[in-house]
Amino acid sequence: EVTKKEDWFKMNRGFETFFARNMYRRVRDCWNRPIASTPGAYTELVDRVSDDYNWTFRHTGGSTNCLNLGSYNYLGFAENTGPCADAAHQSTLDYGAGTCSPARELGTLDVHKKLEALVARFVGKPAALVFGMGFATNSMNIPALMGKGDLLISDQLNHASLVTGAKLSGATVRVFKHNNMKSLENVLRRAVTEGQPRRLRAWRKILIVVEGVYSMEGSVCKLAEIVRLKKKYKAYVYLDEAHSIGAMGPTGRGVSEYWGVDPADIDIMMGTFTKSFGAAGGYIAANQDVINYLRGASHSTTYAASVPAPVAQQIITSMTIIMGDDGTKEGEKRVAQLLDNSRYFRQRLTEMNFIVYGNEDSPVVPILLYEPGKVTSFSRELLKKKIAVVVVGFPATSIVEARARICLSASHTRDMLDYALKEINEVGDLLLLKK
Ligand code: PMP
Repeated sequence: EVTKKEDWFKMNRGFETFFARNMYRRVRDCWNRPIASTPGAYTELVDRVSDDYNWTFRHTGGSTNCLNLGSYNYLGFAENTGPCADAAHQSTLDYGAGTCSPARELGTLDVHKKLEALVARFVGKPAALVFGMGFATNSMNIPALMGKGDLLISDQLNHASLVTGAKLSGATVRVFKHNNMKSLENVLRRAVTEGQPRRLRAWRKILIVVEGVYSMEGSVCKLAEIVRLKKKYKAYVYLDEAHSIGAMGPTGRGVSEYWGVDPADIDIMMGTFTKSFGAAGGYIAANQDVINYLRGASHSTTYAASVPAPVAQQIITSMTIIMGDDGTKEGEKRVAQLLDNSRYFRQRLTEMNFIVYGNEDSPVVPILLYEPGKVTSFSRELLKKKIAVVVVGFPATSIVEARARICLSASHTRDMLDYALKEINEVGDLLLLKK
């Protein structure tokens, strides 16, 4: 007997699934669009046959060069030019494109050791471990750190990889309102007072899990306050710097540098290489004991292939440039350019009367579109002007908070930004998006 498709695929499970299926999967021009170049300041969007809304993406064989305001290419290293491309190219010749083994077996390369030492130095922790995927860095390491009897306190808007890790860990999970310190303190106070009749803490350990910059909000976590609370209630902090490492702070060291918080006060510093470094993979930096433990206990080091050498080399080269260890001011220049671009873009949008979310220095700039129907219209109108943006709506946001999520890059010039602002301004009038 033929098995029904419905038995295997979670179809027709309520409004959320219906919406996600029809918005994000069937619309083939605003999402799921293949690109045929580096995800740089400009990128080639593959052209589709105009009436094709089917699963197969039938394209015309051509592509359109678009100004890219969507990729997480914060420092411009995705451009794949100069020393990064040369080093990654040489590494492919020396080591090949894959490691064909997990770190525990034959997958630890001398390049990984160099990278781990560099990451530890960069973020200011004693030791670090690197993994082949950012998502798995969270989802596979949180379960190694937390378990039954532990309490994990999670920001309401934490990324899916953190939520997956929390669920897999078996720890009790409690959520606090996004970036709301009062709400966090309420959860912490309750956690340390319950079970008090026996004068024992109810929880073996308490871990507060937050992100540096929230990728849908552009908000920056209130790290100094979180550290104060973690000390007061004797908890630990896990900080995901996917969108802040390289992109925040005067020398790109992330939100700890941005807020002037000592990295020693952050127990676990996590980050990804998919954004500011234009590469792939993730890291965890912590004290030597935690890193030694994870090297043995994490599924990622034992059951998943390690970072390919050319990718590791791309990260080493870009990180060296950011740190100024290449003897140039290139890194410093890029970090400053990103901040300048981010502030300029946000400021101009605000002057145009758009509603823009997030922190003034964040390279993530969400523009509110309000209604679900305007999501595709906004994207399509800008595609006509050869500008690619990422648009998101329900269920990733509330139903009335659909938005365009702009990611600025150090590789955007002022001319590029002015062109984008002019076109966004016109689309804003057309779609009645302004205050
Ligand atoms: N953490 C956060 C906060 C993220 O935004 C992302 C992805 N954008 C990840 C982890 C997963 O990283 P990767 O895409 O490198 O697997």
